[in-house]
Parts: sequence; structure tokens; C-alpha cells
Amino acid sequence: MKKVLTIAGSDSCGGAGIQADLKAMSAQGVYGMSVITAITAQNSMGVFAVQEVDLNIIKKQIEVLYEDIEISSVKIGMLSSSEIIKVVYETLKNVNGKNIVIDPVMVSKSGYYLLKEEAIEALKEFLKIGTLVTPNIPEAEILANMKIESEEEMILAAKKIKKLGAKNVLIKGGHREDNCTDILLTEENEIVKLLGERFETKNTHGTGCTLSSTIASYIGKGYSIEESVKIGKRYITDAIKNSFSIGEGVGPVGHFV
Ligand code: PLP
Repeated sequence: MKKVLTIAGSDSCGGAGIQADLKAMSAQGVYGMSVITAITAQNSMGVFAVQEVDLNIIKKQIEVLYEDIEISSVKIGMLSSSEIIKVVYETLKNVNGKNIVIDPVMVSKSGYYLLKEEAIEALKEFLKIGTLVTPNIPEAEILANMKIESEEEMILAAKKIKKLGAKNVLIKGGHREDNCTDILLTEENEIVKLLGERFETKNTHGTGCTLSSTIASYIGKGYSIEESVKIGKRYITDAIKNSFSIGEGVGPVGHFV
């Protein structure tokens, strides 16, 4: 069985972050492992507090895993601060980490900052080790430093983000009003459009985490980037269809284990 690592934040209500990543990885038939960067106090109504994890233990967790285990791919989620970004970057470079899928988590759907503003420049640097980066439109606007209101602008933003160093760029269209087509810009500079189906539900907590973990799982299994992204898109579409309420607020997407 392929071993896949998530380096991300913990979500106490289990819909996003590390918890979503491990559920998605299990559903794809890979063995999931986790390095936790920050702990959030969170329920379906929102994020109430964040405690970052000590830099030394973040570094040590990554090092000991790579010393012992063959890791096929990595998913990166919430990194919280520029210090955490830098330590994860340096450590992954030192252990020669491969197949790195970066979900550039910035703000939760409930509006809580999961990445400090001072860390945006460090996150841009971090993209250099990315095999694939998967921003949504608000994240892509920040990374590319431009407004995105059309498909043409999504493509332009993907090109600008690729220049930061990630080999492949997937801009997710879920925040668009007209349709939710995603744009994949590949290493070979091909543009792949992934048509989307929209469902009326408020329960979309953890969509980004689930998609990036599914894509990382398939890359780890040896599928191409394009195949992995297409499978990920199908999985998250079904998971949104299968979403449910767990409390008063926004519920999680449903996994198929
Ligand atoms: N909590 C953690 C730890 C996360 O990593 C994320 C997203 O990546 C969220 C919360 C936010 O999830 P959502 O915006 O899907 O509600």
C-alpha cells in the first residue's frame, strides 16, 4: 500500500484539515500519515482559536517519517505562519520529499485567518517545492496579485502562479458565480478545463482539504497529474453530493470508505 503524508492543521470538528485528509486518503486506498502544524478549536459554526505546534517537533516528525518510511506523496495544508512555512520547506528539501501537493490554505469559509498575513510572501516562496498547487479563486487572486472574474483571468492567474515555481497549477472555480469550471495548467503548459456540477448545499466544510488529499493519493499511486486531478474532481463532486449536517453551522462533505 502506498504511504501518503499530510502536513496540515487539526480541525477538532473533523470535517477539514488533518482529519479530512486522513479520511480522504483511506477512501482512496492509501495509508495516510500526519504531521500536525497547528491545532484549531473548531465546530461547524467556525474557528474559535488556533495553537501553533512547536517548530522543533514539526521538523522532527517529518525527519523521522522519512528516515523510516517510503513516502509516495505529500499533501500540504494549513501552515499558519512564516516560521512554520520555512521549517517545513527546509525539512522537506533536506529529506528529498517528492510529489508535493500544496493547498495554499489562507482563510476558512467562516472567515477565520488560517495563515497570518505576514506569511503570504513565505508561502509564495514555498510554492517552489510544489508538484501541484491548488488555490481557490480568492487564494489565486492573492498569489497572482490580480482580480479574477472570468475564465481568461483564471488562466492568466495560473500562468502567474506557475512562474512562482509550482510545476502544475489547479485553480478551483467553486467561488465563481457563472459556473464552477476548474483550470489546470500543466508542467507542459497545457490548459485543461474541468467542467463542474454545482449542488445546492451549505455543507461544504473541508472541500479543499479533501480534494488536495485525494489528488495527492492518486499521484502517490503513480497516476499522472491530469488523471489525479480528474479523479479528485469526481471524488469531491460526489462527496459534496453526500455532505450532511453535524451541528448548527456548515457540515462536512461525505467520504466513501
Ligand atoms: N481548519 C483547518 C485545520 C483547515 O486546514 C481548513 C482548510 O483547509 C479549514 C479549517 C477550513 O475549511 P473550510 O474552509 O472548508 O471550512
